[in-house]
Amino acid sequence: MQPVPYFQFRDFPAGLEAQVQQALLDTVAGRQYVLGPQVEAFEREFAAYLSAGAAVGVGNGYDALVIALKALGVGAGDEVVLPVHTFIATVNAVLQVGATPILAEPDKYTYNLTAETAARHITPKTKAILAVHLYGQVCQMEELQRLAQSQRIKLLEDAAQAHGATYKNKYAGSMGDAAAFSFYPTKNLGALGDAGAVVTFDETLEAFARKYRNYGESQKYNSEQVGINSRLDELQAAALRAKLQHLEAMNRERQRLAQVYLQELQNTGDLILPQTAPHCGHVYHIFNILTKYRNELQAYLQEQGVGTAIHYPVPAHLQPAYTFLGHRAGDFPVAEELARTSLSLPLFPGLTEVEQQRVVEKVKAFFGR
Ligand SMILES: *Cc1c(COP(=O)(O)O)cnc(C)c1O
Repeated sequence: MQPVPYFQFRDFPAGLEAQVQQALLDTVAGRQYVLGPQVEAFEREFAAYLSAGAAVGVGNGYDALVIALKALGVGAGDEVVLPVHTFIATVNAVLQVGATPILAEPDKYTYNLTAETAARHITPKTKAILAVHLYGQVCQMEELQRLAQSQRIKLLEDAAQAHGATYKNKYAGSMGDAAAFSFYPTKNLGALGDAGAVVTFDETLEAFARKYRNYGESQKYNSEQVGINSRLDELQAAALRAKLQHLEAMNRERQRLAQVYLQELQNTGDLILPQTAPHCGHVYHIFNILTKYRNELQAYLQEQGVGTAIHYPVPAHLQPAYTFLGHRAGDFPVAEELARTSLSLPLFPGLTEVEQQRVVEKVKAFFGR
């Protein structure tokens, strides 16, 4: 039997691959390769999709975080509260602007940062809260917005895993002072290489991001501020425009696949399945399950030809590169438990019924032994 990959690019919905190829060819023929009509159109269409003020295309999700933090005025001497259970880019971006990352425990059920935990870490030095919408589920934003407003600090969303995810009928990326998106190929909206965007309603932040990504230029060779080169590529923008039209369909397929797992795997061994919090429309960037037999289950599935992944095996505070933050094992028991027990199952648009049933059958077989 064919192995089931953890992730694979598939032509879903059928015909999308051809549309992307055509968009690339058209862009080549258009002969405008940097900050041209494709980037402009994608920025407009993505902002409209999110019902946000504006989107500014940048080189990748990490740069989107860094540029958003800079736009919000976060720098040396400032503290930024963020979840310890996240992809390392979130922590890195805070360090890049010279600020101090203040790590906080995730919620046990949603794995996300909550206002209650974030509040414990607010000090006079806190400049911003960086809320990560992990695995495709938006944080409880109203509480976070209230906390940020009452403390007069900024709220930044890391929406890299949450394209199209909703909270109270609003899209991830439209609820903070600013948001950072990644379009890394495997994300729910993925380019054919690196790409990202800063999203905001604030015209001052938008103007800063527009200039900063392009050497601080307002016009060619007119540098109003110090900047960098982190422009969204014209070819990537063309691919993203084609795929954005199918984002809802791709997310619906992720949700359908998730429902199958939720149905089929309930009451299996000691498995804890992902929960959807109140007011949230989960888009299952990652479908993770928890079990204390994680390592054994992963090895068994591997043997049986089923690919899995772990998000994330070592929490940020225990990564060798971040020991200088001064944390120890035991500082974040929830995050450490997630690192020990979390396993991500194959879930991507185009995963077939036969493949998914194989995954279900093998997981059940493991616990039935
Ligand atoms: C993917 C990701 C990023 C970084 O995006 P890149 O485009 O790879 O730089 C940041 N934060 C989170 C939560 C992510 O999942």
